Amino acid sequence: MNEGILLVISGPAGTGKGSVIAELFKQSSEFAYSVSATTRKPRPTDVDGVNYHFMSREEFERKIESGDVVEYVNYCGDYYGTLRREIEEKHKNGMNLILELEVHGALNIKKKYPDCVTIFLLPPDYQTLEARLRGRGTESEEAIKRRLDRALEEVRCMSEYDYVVLNREGKCAEAAAEIIEIVKSERKRVRRNLYLIDEFIKSHAMFTAEKTQEAAADAQKE
Ligand code: 5GP
Repeated sequence: MNEGILLVISGPAGTGKGSVIAELFKQSSEFAYSVSATTRKPRPTDVDGVNYHFMSREEFERKIESGDVVEYVNYCGDYYGTLRREIEEKHKNGMNLILELEVHGALNIKKKYPDCVTIFLLPPDYQTLEARLRGRGTESEEAIKRRLDRALEEVRCMSEYDYVVLNREGKCAEAAAEIIEIVKSERKRVRRNLYLIDEFIKSHAMFTAEKTQEAAADAQKE
């Protein structure tokens, strides 16, 4: 089996990354999710250890110092970072590992893991983004403004990504299906399947050995 894909998904706050990723898990059992560490306060719907590993600034900074954090950013006043152990423990047995990161983290991961696949999830337009962000009612007005200010900056960075997927209103199942298609194609890239050459050559060697044995057995019978 070839290795799973390290899949980075980005998109401005309010794009619907969470809903699309939830759909991905409904449609395929070949994905795992890298749970990031953060110092932001949990929202009422957040579950510690599932959505994030919530921690204090001191604890986060200790993890940076000890090298347990692969990449991190300060996003709208809080630390967010990818934990080394999440990648080491979950990116195995052919599983595709999803990293949901803002743009700077995504580009840092691309530098460290050039084989990763980066997908930018785009909302249909700014109005929809604004309405979705306000509609979820989980952030203060100040936090909403900070996230909206960042949205333009993030969309400008889209040119650095490998793929773009549009998350149309009410169509997150389609967006998830498109991501699954991208991952399927990526897994078929020749450079991810070079082991098949060795396997074929081994099967040829076995075939030749069997034929030689058969010929020797036939010769003895005669
Ligand atoms: P939120 O507070 O809405 O959960 O997340 C804010 C932003 O941080 C989102 O764009 C999300 O993708 C990003 N994010 C979450 N975890 C990480 C991480 O580990 N590293 C980086 N660089 N960004 C993250």
